[in-house]
Amino acid sequence: MSTVARTEAETIASPRSAVKIGHETHKLEKRLCREAGRAITTFRMIEEGDKVMVCMSGGKDSYTLLDVLLRLQARAPIRFELVAVNLDQKQPGFPAHVLPEYLARTGVRFHIENEDTYGIVKRLIPEGKTTCSLCSRLRRGILYRVAGELGCSKIALGHHRDDILQTLLLNMFFGGKLKSMPPKLVSDDGRHVVIRPLAYVAEKDIARWATHRAFPIIPCNLCGSQENLQRKQVGDLLRDWEARFPGRVPNMFNALQNVVASHLLDGRLYDFENAQATGVASADGDRAFDPDTFPAPAPALPGMQVVQRP
Ligand code: SF4
Repeated sequence: MSTVARTEAETIASPRSAVKIGHETHKLEKRLCREAGRAITTFRMIEEGDKVMVCMSGGKDSYTLLDVLLRLQARAPIRFELVAVNLDQKQPGFPAHVLPEYLARTGVRFHIENEDTYGIVKRLIPEGKTTCSLCSRLRRGILYRVAGELGCSKIALGHHRDDILQTLLLNMFFGGKLKSMPPKLVSDDGRHVVIRPLAYVAEKDIARWATHRAFPIIPCNLCGSQENLQRKQVGDLLRDWEARFPGRVPNMFNALQNVVASHLLDGRLYDFENAQATGVASADGDRAFDPDTFPAPAPALPGMQVVQRP
């Protein structure tokens, strides 16, 4: 277990280790707030007077999202409101008291919406078929409606950097598209702006923060559906790469912010058809035939065996 990944109660060790843990925790908190603040500023996610609906599922990501937004709200130079919203989908065994109790303790304004989407999905989808697509469609529609009823101008979701990379790979592997999850988009009904303030935050930082803060996590498998096995596999792939080749995952994420349309093959993004010799030398020099150069593969970390895969 890392030094940060302990609950506050567990820090009653030696004074020196307590100081070290406190220091690590402080650094983690600063990093979470800095990265969320950077995403909010870069993509102009939250503006003066916004009322932000924070979607709470009871998972570590949504708890961290709310926690970070509350911290940023307290120190931001602009005024904005937060309303935490949970949709109780009536899944069997859903501990309906957990989120209201937690949210009441934080003092944030909150709303619990009760809708039996579980029953609808069970009725409409034959046994053994995937239920996630209908379930998410129903959930999305309800959350948009609730945002309208509460007068919220923004809807904040807890997706993070690793969700964005997983979506990129899933779209490439199964959808034939170079496409990921946007940090900010207009909702399907055209009436709201959906934001992802944790877009720059690494999942492992969220997991460490959730452990440190001892959030009352609600299990995400209550519906009995095998949620997105492909996503789990792609998540494992990214974690495996990052363990064996540190820096690869952040580099992939940087690539999403550094797109060179002229070096892809989509004629809608770059006008290849009308590309003509200009007679003017490129400022970068003549590099048309140069192969890209990449650093030599990093040596495997001690105790790790590099497995060559096709
Ligand atoms: S895992 Fe269950 S709750 Fe989650 S989207 Fe799928 S059906 Fe819905």
